[in-house]
Amino acid sequence: MLIAGNWKMFKGPAETRAFGIDLREADLPTSVEVVVCPPFVSLGAAAEVLAGTEIGVFAQNCHWDPEGAFTGEISAPMLRELGVYGTIVGHSERRQHFGDTDETVGRRCRAAIESGLHVIACVGETEHERSAGETEMVLRRQVAALDADDNLVIAYEPVWAIGTGKTATPEIARQAHETIKELLDVPVLYGGSVNAGNVAELLAHDAVDGALVGGASLDVESFAAICRAASQLS
Ligand code: PEP
Repeated sequence: MLIAGNWKMFKGPAETRAFGIDLREADLPTSVEVVVCPPFVSLGAAAEVLAGTEIGVFAQNCHWDPEGAFTGEISAPMLRELGVYGTIVGHSERRQHFGDTDETVGRRCRAAIESGLHVIACVGETEHERSAGETEMVLRRQVAALDADDNLVIAYEPVWAIGTGKTATPEIARQAHETIKELLDVPVLYGGSVNAGNVAELLAHDAVDGALVGGASLDVESFAAICRAASQLS
């Protein structure tokens, strides 16, 4: 069971250090793998404050080239140098607002894995795609851009459930996870408005291997409560 907290564009280095100190003391269950994904500028602080713990530090994105004329981008070797363990790729906010496509997500994913990073690759349909009956087709297309690897985890994040307070039903999550697992034999996390109150229900099925948590990961108590609830299922 893996619980990853995506901080999006929240928490600079000072706040990250304070959060890390509290998280170290939060009595996290050992049966759950715990990961935090701070913004780029806070990764060094997170890696430092969480050094020597089992809590992994992931970036939220990474470029496919090791270096080059790509203003505003960060490469996998740069992340490795900071002590970062892995990265998210293909988050729907990157796809929606920053032009990421299945092709660029696949390139980011391959480069990160080749550099030794672990990857959480996000897939998921929009509300429009779901109501048009296209969910399975979209998932198949997005997953086809990825290659199976021991260091790859997929996060199924229905776009309509991210930051909206709406969650997939456990049945919707089960169906999507099974579709993904038929295509690639990798762990699949659920993401979309997960909190301490709904995590047990959303993670109950065997096909759900953990959660990618946004808003509810920004508060130590709430994030720790999600990890504890998940540990009851693992
Ligand atoms: C996310 O950012 O990946 C996410 C699932 O956000 P939230 O939990 O806030 O819906």
